[in-house]
Amino acid sequence: MFDFLIVGAGFAGSVLAERLASQLNKKVLIIDKRNHIAGNAYDHYNEEGILMHKYGPHIFHTNSREVFEYLSQFTAWRPYEHRVLASVDGQLVPIPINLDTINKLYGLSLTAFDVDGFFKSVAEEVSPVRTSEDVVVSRVGRELYEKFFRNYTRKQWGMDPSELDKSVTARVPVRTSRDDRYFTDTYQAMPLHGYTALFEKLLSHPNIKIMLNTDYKDIVGMIPFREMIYTGPVDEYFGYRYGKLPYRSLEFRHETLDKPVHLPVAVVNYPNEHAFTRITEFKYLTGQQHQKTSIVYEYPQAEGDPYYPVPRPENAEIYNQYKALADATPNVYFVGRLATYKYYNMDQVVAQALTLFKKLAKGEQRGALTDAPKKPVIESNVWNGTITNVSKNGVH
Ligand SMILES: Cc1cc2nc3c(=O)[nH]c(=O)nc-3n(C[C@H](O)[C@H](O)[C@H](O)COP(=O)(O)OP(=O)(O)OC[C@H]3O[C@@H](n4cnc5c(N)ncnc54)[C@H](O)[C@@H]3O)c2cc1C
Repeated sequence: MFDFLIVGAGFAGSVLAERLASQLNKKVLIIDKRNHIAGNAYDHYNEEGILMHKYGPHIFHTNSREVFEYLSQFTAWRPYEHRVLASVDGQLVPIPINLDTINKLYGLSLTAFDVDGFFKSVAEEVSPVRTSEDVVVSRVGRELYEKFFRNYTRKQWGMDPSELDKSVTARVPVRTSRDDRYFTDTYQAMPLHGYTALFEKLLSHPNIKIMLNTDYKDIVGMIPFREMIYTGPVDEYFGYRYGKLPYRSLEFRHETLDKPVHLPVAVVNYPNEHAFTRITEFKYLTGQQHQKTSIVYEYPQAEGDPYYPVPRPENAEIYNQYKALADATPNVYFVGRLATYKYYNMDQVVAQALTLFKKLAKGEQRGALTDAPKKPVIESNVWNGTITNVSKNGVH
């Protein structure tokens, strides 16, 4: 009998597995329908021996000391500050827009003191600020909005920024300084040996069993467990009874080039040209030395793996119906990006998982874990104690 069945071996599921196993001595089975651990943070060496991120570039950054110190138990770090250029009007200029972006684009020599005045002179008054278009136009004016944001957003979301909630573009700041770092968080670093290596350590506790290539629907009636932590899509869990929650997806086209370096920085955005939104060169992120280099193009699309929840009020309404069901479901905890239908960065998901763990440990939520054993969610007759019978190649 497992104390916990954890669905999904991404950050949400794996952090909870580690905490429950190591701190509360719980017996945990973690499953994933993919053929690997680490969720969307999964990285691996390609056929040329170059470390790459299968699901697009994942850059770790956080302001949370707790999250950074927690993960530091499972990895050493490589200091890394992310930089991005945008291809606009035939030039490569820093994004987020900063002093150098404006000077380069318009052939000016403004100083940090002048540039705020420049933004004010081009900004449009918008009240109230409701959409993504409003956010940008009210900060940097229509021309920069057209050059940098409008088409990028249309490609990324398949919708005009005027149709999207303000929270989407609120993620892209504008700077009056020459600071060209993409993130300004206190902690910015990449796992020294990659994310998958970090996850292998997270999941190495003897109380944790891993089963891959396994959809939870296929085993849920077969394996006895007391409680479940579910990190898959919440609408799928409830059989889509209020409809499908919309996601935006991506197609990743990976290429390996026969030269040591391809881009001037890790990522170049293409707001206006091409069907893809950006190209990433992985060696900048990993620090790997290699005579070849590996890049990925991202093509946004409507169908495919669920990556970005679409933040529109009607979707929030559907989600709230699912959330009410989730809250009323005993002994199942919904956590992570897909289960809460919210775009979270990795550090936010780790923080969410640590918070849930603390609640579980204190027994604050749905009865104390440390009290008398709970009635199992599933009591199974077919359980024979060997999970290898369920999935031949997925058990570690
Ligand atoms: C293109 C892209 C780039 C990103 N870049 C960054 C970045 O630079 N920095 C950053 O901090 N964050 C980034 N993120 C966000 C990051 O990927 C997430 O924060 C993180 O993956 C969330 O972890 P999770 O455990 O909630 O979900 P996931 O990593 O998605 O894990 C959920 C797991 O559940 C499994 N699952 C789902 N349904 C089932 C089922 N029925 N049965 C069994 N298993 C199931 C899935 O296969 C998956 O492995 C990026 C995301 C994307 C899409």
